Amino acid sequence: MIPNVLSIAGSDPSGGAGIQADIKSISANGAFAMAALTALTAQNTQGVSDIHFVPPAFVQSQIDAIFADIRVDAAKIGMIATAEVAAAIARSLSGHAAVPVVLDPVMIAKGGASLLQEDAIAALRTLLLPLATVLTPNLPEAAQLLGVRAAATRDEMVEQGQALCALGPQAVLMKGGHLDGATSPDCLVTAQDAIWFEAPRIRTANTHGTGCTLSSALAAQLAKGLAPAAAASAAKSYVSTVVARAGDLSVGTGHGPTHH
Ligand code: PLP
Repeated sequence: MIPNVLSIAGSDPSGGAGIQADIKSISANGAFAMAALTALTAQNTQGVSDIHFVPPAFVQSQIDAIFADIRVDAAKIGMIATAEVAAAIARSLSGHAAVPVVLDPVMIAKGGASLLQEDAIAALRTLLLPLATVLTPNLPEAAQLLGVRAAATRDEMVEQGQALCALGPQAVLMKGGHLDGATSPDCLVTAQDAIWFEAPRIRTANTHGTGCTLSSALAAQLAKGLAPAAAASAAKSYVSTVVARAGDLSVGTGHGPTHH
């Protein structure tokens, strides 16, 4: 049976990130994609020019409508924008503890625009981290959640992953793309161990939406019944594939999208 995956995220009308990337990634990873919107951005490959916030009660209505009718095999949370939306999502998911949740703590767009209000970081930490099966921070996001400086070594990545696990997630996929080096190392950290995934670093401007794509692929693979380590490995190789073939596209002149 095809699994159903719900993305709870913001819209990127340029198609590179947000729910648009999530739907492409979930579909390509063999699941049926659903999307509940938290915010609408106005953006292109140059950057974000405006954000329209979806009222928190309406975010909750969307999620509740899905759960009232449809089996959800995994959920992915992306841009939450505000503390009130974080609370609405937590309320909606609270009765569904068996559903695996991938939490991508989206904070800043690749072009530099803030996608998360300052006071929402505390709400993300206290309300949503405990619901996460897998949290997928990049190194600046992990540091923001912990209130420390960004990890600069692999040992620090593991230490910060463990510190984040102590805040509630069952596992933390620390994304090491910000480290220097020939490879892009990610580490899946649990209370018990740390598993590394390596991929060659691809030098390209087309990385817009890679975080969205990874977390959605991971949710789809968890929905198919894979354990977190196997799901993370499949998701990472999917991201490498879509980044490698981004050169086929001709979409804007800034931070371009990947090709699913
Ligand atoms: N969600 C939305 C709606 C966005 O616009 C963005 C980036 O612009 C993101 C999430 C995060 O994108 P990325 O996967 O590049 O980190």
